[in-house]
Parts: sequence; C-alpha cells; structure tokens
Amino acid sequence: MTHFAYRDGVLHAEDVPLPAIAEAVGTPFYCYSAATVRERFRAFADPLADRDHLIAYAAKANSNLAVLHLLGREGSGLDIVSRGELERGRRAGIPAGRMVFSGVGKRRDELEVALDAGVLTINVESAGELEALDAVARARGQRAPVSLRVNPDVDPETHPYIATGLRTTKFGVPIGGARDLYARAGSLEGIEVVGLDCHIGSQLTSVAPFLEALTRMQALMEELRADGHAIRHLDLGGGLGIDYGQGDPPRPGGLVSALRDGLAGWQGTLILEPGRAVVGEAGVFVTEVLYIKDQPDKRFLVVDGAMNDFLRPALYGAEQPIRPVREGSGSDWQEVDVVGPICESGDFLARQRRLPPFSTGDRMAVMAAGAYGATMASNYNSRPRAPEVLVSGDRFQVVRRRETVDELMAGESLPGEDWFG
Ligand SMILES: *Cc1c(COP(=O)(O)O)cnc(C)c1O
Repeated sequence: MTHFAYRDGVLHAEDVPLPAIAEAVGTPFYCYSAATVRERFRAFADPLADRDHLIAYAAKANSNLAVLHLLGREGSGLDIVSRGELERGRRAGIPAGRMVFSGVGKRRDELEVALDAGVLTINVESAGELEALDAVARARGQRAPVSLRVNPDVDPETHPYIATGLRTTKFGVPIGGARDLYARAGSLEGIEVVGLDCHIGSQLTSVAPFLEALTRMQALMEELRADGHAIRHLDLGGGLGIDYGQGDPPRPGGLVSALRDGLAGWQGTLILEPGRAVVGEAGVFVTEVLYIKDQPDKRFLVVDGAMNDFLRPALYGAEQPIRPVREGSGSDWQEVDVVGPICESGDFLARQRRLPPFSTGDRMAVMAAGAYGATMASNYNSRPRAPEVLVSGDRFQVVRRRETVDELMAGESLPGEDWFG
C-alpha cells in the first residue's frame, strides 16, 4: 500500500486528488502521503517492539521539517550527516539523544555542536576524525560517545555511486583495522566507546548482503568484547531498496525480523538507519507537459520539472515509474523522452519510455519520488525550488512553499563602484 491510487481516473494522494494540489500550488511540486510514511516507519519498528532498538531515520532521504516531525512522533530517531540536519531534527522535535551523527567529513564546529546537543553517538569514520573528536571533547571537558563505522567489505550489488561498504569506498574504516582503532579509541581521554556501526549501501534489493554484514559485525563485536570494550549499540545502517517499478525488493518486515533473530542472544540496542525505504514510496513529483516536440526519430515531452528539482534520473540513470495524473482513454502508447527545460542533455526524467498519450497541459506524476528528491534539489539555471505538500486523509498542507526569484539572490551582492576605478 502506498496511498497513491486512481479514483474515477484521477490520481489521488490518500483522499486528495492531485489536480487540487496542482491548482493550489502550481507545478512542479512534491507531494507526500503521511499515512505511507507512518506505515513504512512502523514496518521497521514493530518487529523490534520487544527488544531494545532505535530506528534512526536517515534525514538526508527527506529532511522536510513536517516529515521529520511525523516520524519523531512515531518514536523515530535520526541519522544525521551535518549540522544542518541536526538543527532540522531539533526543530522538528526529535531529541538529540535519539540522533546518531554519521559522515566521512565532519568539521570541528559540527563535532562541537553535536557534543553540546548531546547526540546518542558519533559514528567516527577515520583515525583522523577520532583524534580530532578527542581533542574537541577534551577541550570542552567532555567525553564523546563514539561508534566506529566499520566497512565490512560486503558487496551490496547496487549502483556504484551508492555502494558504500566495499573496501574501495571512502566510507568507514576497513574491518581488518577496526580492533586497533578501537584500542586507540579506548585509550583516549575524550572518547567513550559505546557502539559499532556500518552502512553498506543504498537501494539494496536482497537481504543476503545485510545478513553477511551482520555475521561479520557480530564476529567483530565478540572480538571487541574480548578486548574489553563495552559495545552497547550495534548500528547496521540503512539501505533497504524500494520498488521503482522493476521488481519487488524485500519488505522491511522480513529484513528486520531476520536481523532481530540473528541478534536474539544479545541484549544491546539494535540501531537501524533506513531512509529511502521509509519515505521513497511515500512521495510523488508532479510536473506539467509544456510542449510536445517531435524530432525526426524521437518524440520529446518537455515538462516544467527538471534535473534541478529531481536529480535521480540524471545522476544515477534511475528509472522511475511515470503515471498520468488523469488517466486518458487513448491506447496508443508511445516511446518518448521526458525532458526538462535545463540546458543539459542530461536533463531528463525518463528516456525511451513507453508512456500513454500526453497532451500539452497534461500533468504526470513521477512515482516513488519521496526519497532523494527534494533533498537533492538545487537552483541550477536559477530555478526556484519546488514546493512540498503533505497529505493526510482529505487534508493537505504546503509544508515548504515554492521558493521565490528574490530568494534565489538573497545572499548575493554586487561589487562596489570603487572596483571599477
Ligand atoms: C544514506 C545513509 C543511510 C540511509 O540510506 P537509505 O538507502 O536511504 O536507507 C543510512 N546511513 C548512512 C550512514 C547513510 O549515509
């Protein structure tokens, strides 16, 4: 269930027809279903109800305050990767004690803010970061709660840009060197070892790599215990894939139950950091056809949404399902390219895709756009960012309004007259 379905030929988000939102905010826009977000979150949390756990939703998938707030009310924590995400989490009402701070390049000021806020743990990704964090903590008379992000060298069999648990990626410390780095961490006055962390990649479509990572992490945890470290948290990261119309990846329930069973004899806190699997299928990106352009061998649908709004097709070659907002009666499906107004040939939402007939002024919904959609949006070509709308039942609210052209230039200034002598 995703709560995006046709009623009388019109695509609805829960009980709200998408054309009603388009009329209120214009196109393009993002629309999220609150019920879907909640259901997907619960699919992770419910199987863990009778063990110590924390679902630390990965904010970078969709960090709209309203979405974070919904999740916070469900008991979610947050996996954050920047000071900005920490601040978003706090303003959305999520306590810092439920946040884990990940990322390969945290700045010192970010470490300071995280310590002051009281995050649950800082997932340290290198020997250099460990030393820097120790210095920051000692200078403030604090001890930083630390998990090391270990790279278990498991192939997640996903797109190379989102495979993070291989030996060759920039993330984490190699599992072979983890014991030594824990020994160093244990000797530092400003560091308190609390956990062990990994995250092997994103859009994983099978459970096997997760179980492989679990086995390797459990073996390491045993060694660390023998070395005298108190590992209270085991964080297995996020990465579960969603349905982009190319087959059904495993559902959260099955994965989480398997991890829970694998850890049945262990009393500590199991942390998971799902992002995409919570919000991906809870969102659509809606855009309108501006022109239909027939070239000798190709038909282009030129739409008002572009790669600055929704980057995944351009960045990863991602293929996302596209559906008409109003179902037509025509049966003459055609192969088309759906392209935006940006001055890049890489600006497409779909290529060589068989779609039902569209006319100028028709709207289409890019499905499963709730994750890595709005958060990856930019202002390229000086395009204001699209609004985000949250639906619950028959209600909808604009949870981020459309940016204005003035806002695009708000931080800029002209050089002074004296520059031109
Ligand atoms: C991106 C990320 C996640 C979430 O990944 P999804 O594929 O969206 O579930 C979790 N943990 C870390 C450290 C990440 O960088």
